[in-house]
Amino acid sequence: MELRSHLPYAAISKVDFLQLKQTVIRGTVSPEILNIPDKCSMSLESCPCCSGKPFTKCCQPYLTGKAKPKTVKQLMRSRYTAYKLGGYGEYLWRTWHPNTSKGLTPQSLSGKTRDWQSLEIVDSVQEGDKGGVEFRARYLDEHGELKCHHEMSAFVRVKGQWVYVDGKVQLESVSGAA
Ligand SMILES: [Zn+2]
Repeated sequence: MELRSHLPYAAISKVDFLQLKQTVIRGTVSPEILNIPDKCSMSLESCPCCSGKPFTKCCQPYLTGKAKPKTVKQLMRSRYTAYKLGGYGEYLWRTWHPNTSKGLTPQSLSGKTRDWQSLEIVDSVQEGDKGGVEFRARYLDEHGELKCHHEMSAFVRVKGQWVYVDGKVQLESVSGAA
């Protein structure tokens, strides 16, 4: 398990969610994960974040700066979509807290890092200007094997804009995958 301990968690200490959820993460894949499609159905119009909504009515307005996510879930989804599509490094950088985005640039965040397949929001909490989202995102690794990026992300709202602070990440293999 990868634990990044430099995180400014004092800033989000009121959100018990993350502390609670730390105890939930274990080294195995929960049974319910097997009931979730490995890849969400994609049509030309559907949003890459697996919401089932059209892209134009889901993440696109956020990625293009026409609207700001009002919830941590919306921000989380739109950031996943930005990673999946590539080319939205400016958005990822802008929605990343300056304290934890050091060394990152819009350019460095624009590349497609992984072959993302699907997103599942497990849980989320929002309390004032603090929030957290637990999600599982599936991707194909360099050997074509299905893997799961399981993360608890922390967010804060700065001047009306939700930004990603950091997360606790665990990479899991997806048993039963073809
Ligand atoms: Zn979306």
